[in-house]
Amino acid sequence: MGENDRLVTIFTKEYGILKAYASGVKSIKSKRASGCSLLTYSSFTIKRKGENYRITEAEPISSFFTMGMDVEVLSLCQYFCELSLVFVERMIPNEEFLRLILNSLHFITKENKYPPLIKAITEFRIAVISGYRPDLLACEGCGKFEDDIIFFDMQNGSLICKDCAESFDGLTALDRTSLTALRHIAFSEFSKLYSFTIPEKSAVTLSKITEKYLTLQTDYRFSTLDFYHSIINY
Ligand SMILES: [Zn+2]
Repeated sequence: MGENDRLVTIFTKEYGILKAYASGVKSIKSKRASGCSLLTYSSFTIKRKGENYRITEAEPISSFFTMGMDVEVLSLCQYFCELSLVFVERMIPNEEFLRLILNSLHFITKENKYPPLIKAITEFRIAVISGYRPDLLACEGCGKFEDDIIFFDMQNGSLICKDCAESFDGLTALDRTSLTALRHIAFSEFSKLYSFTIPEKSAVTLSKITEKYLTLQTDYRFSTLDFYHSIINY
C-alpha cells in the first residue's frame, strides 16, 4: 500500500463485514476520501480481484462523525463498530444487525439521545439477535411475572423472584423500570425499539446490566469499552 492508501473496513448490507483497499484516499484531493472516512454511511463501488477488494467509488450519504464531537459519544460509536466487527461475519449478510447499528449511530449523534440508554438498547438487542436471548417472561421457579424486585440470573439468562431466590448466588436485582426496559428491548418490533424513555439514572443502571450480560455471555473483552470507561464517571 502507498502512503495515501487505506484498508477500509465496511459493514455492508449484502456481504456483512468487508475489507477493501482504497487508493489515494488520504490525499485531500481524492474524490473518495469523504466516502471512505470513519463513521460514514456511503454508497460504494467495489471491484474484486481474487481475494482482494478495491474501492473504485465512494459516495457519502450521511456522516455520523463531526469535528469536536463529544468524546463519550465518539467512544460509544467506536464501541458499536467493534461490536459489529466481533459479531458480524465476513461476507455473510446481517441486515438486522446493520439496521441496529445505523439507528444507534443516528440516535446518539443526530438526535442527542442519552448515551447510556442507546448503549443499553444496542448491547441488549445485539445479545438477543446474536443467539444470547435470555428468558425474560417470568420467574423460572414459580412463573411469577413481575414484582417490585425480580432477580436476573445473568449466567443462565433467566428471571428468579424473591421467594425462589434463596438457593441462587450472584443474582442481579432488577427494579420494575429495568425489567420493563429489558423486555421492551428484547421483544419490541424494530420500529418501536428506540421509542421509550426512562430517567437518566435508570438508563445508567440499565446500561451496567446490559453490558454485564453481553460481556458475561460472550466472554469477550472489548477494548473500546475499556476506553469508554476510562472517560466516563458514572
Ligand atoms: Zn419464583
